[in-house]
Amino acid sequence: MNSHQLFRRSRIRLALWYAGVMGVILSLSGFGMYRALVQANWAALEREIESIAGTLHDSLEPILPASEDPTAILQQILPELCLVGQPCNTNPTLIQRHTTGISDRNTYYIRLFDHQGKLLAFSPNQASHLTQTLNPATWQTWRSADGIRYHQFTTILHSANTHHVTAKTSSHPSWGYIQIGRTLEPFDAEVRRVQWIFAIGFPLALGLVAVSSWWLSGLAMQPIYQSYQQQQQFTANAAHELRSPLASLLATVEAILRVQPSNQQDIPTMLQTVERQGRRLSHLIADLLLLSSIEQNTSSEQFKPCCLNDLISDLSEEFLELAVASDIKLSSHIPAHLIYVLGHEQQLYRLVSNLIANAIHYTPSGGCINISLEQRDRTSFITVKDTGIGIPPTEQPRIFERFYRVDSARSCKTGGTGLGLAIVQAITQVHGGKLSVESQLDQGSTFTLQLAAHPLQM
Ligand code: ADP
Repeated sequence: MNSHQLFRRSRIRLALWYAGVMGVILSLSGFGMYRALVQANWAALEREIESIAGTLHDSLEPILPASEDPTAILQQILPELCLVGQPCNTNPTLIQRHTTGISDRNTYYIRLFDHQGKLLAFSPNQASHLTQTLNPATWQTWRSADGIRYHQFTTILHSANTHHVTAKTSSHPSWGYIQIGRTLEPFDAEVRRVQWIFAIGFPLALGLVAVSSWWLSGLAMQPIYQSYQQQQQFTANAAHELRSPLASLLATVEAILRVQPSNQQDIPTMLQTVERQGRRLSHLIADLLLLSSIEQNTSSEQFKPCCLNDLISDLSEEFLELAVASDIKLSSHIPAHLIYVLGHEQQLYRLVSNLIANAIHYTPSGGCINISLEQRDRTSFITVKDTGIGIPPTEQPRIFERFYRVDSARSCKTGGTGLGLAIVQAITQVHGGKLSVESQLDQGSTFTLQLAAHPLQM
């Protein structure tokens, strides 16, 4: 499987996982919302029925007759209710107005039962197919033959007289029962409406989640893909860099092996070439190892306060000889007060020495290099300025890449591996610093390193 396929598969897998997890979260929250909505509607509906029943119960109880045959009196106090076995007036009634004042008069129905559960009276709009006998359960839901659901509430009625009679003679604790019911048609329609919204909205939301998962997984894979490509490029470059000195070394060794006894005097020169190539290889490998150890931050050493004044003066001294040999004037400007930064001393030495070595390598004879150290606010600035060949503006962003050389031919002549500035950049990043370059072709370059000064030592 090539890397492209591998990344595509990983992206698909990531997108599927993301869409799956989002889908589960969406369904759970959707289902929860649906349940909460239905529950809230149901509770409101029951509250409404209960409050109507309560109002009727309280207004009826004081005027209920104690009679065993209350029909006549009921007709007097509730003339609008239909009495069982008598013709029914279907005009809107007082009771209906009681209930329909709260809601549509066709929504509610009322029934009165005696204490034995025998139906006495009912509102004319009551649902058909209602049983004539009482089911005393407080809440009941039932379905009529035409499929409409009803919900009803039943409560006991006591009359003032009954209380009195019951206490003394009667074994019946109540006068009878009042039953308030209503159709669940609007409620069921609302539930169906919500179900439809979810049925259409959920696949739509899932589709959006799938599209955004694909897009997000692409975004997530991007840096990994880039880093993978960089790694591959690095491996190819490293192999290429190692191959050239190795090939040249092997060719020289072969030539030595074939040297005629008469040309023995050439052998020391050839061995010097072998040594030079060997050193170059070893230098390259050391740089590669250093770079990888800096980037992985494998150093067990803790950051310590490092005196930059000492560092600059040591390195100026160290490179003075090389500068003189190249006919370059090397000067340094170090302030009297000590400037400290927290870091790895070895790495900071390496960082500044790479900058100075580059300045010497890329400055022709007769040029000048100035190394300066200063502190502004809480930041220390190390500047390496040369009057060398300069770097074209288009190349400046690329010089910190591994193995990148502006001019390969010239760079190889100076013995550069193309890793010097990559190491500088890596060390700067480990130390939380900032590195910048200003350069003009044939005028010179200035590399500026900013590091946070260590406050304790200021
Ligand atoms: P090298 O080992 O080739 O010097 P570096 O990573 O140190 O590699 O530098 C990368 C490239 O940046 C060099 O090839 C060179 O062209 C350019 N460069 C670095 N420092 C300077 C400088 N002071 N003046 C001009 N060019 C420079």
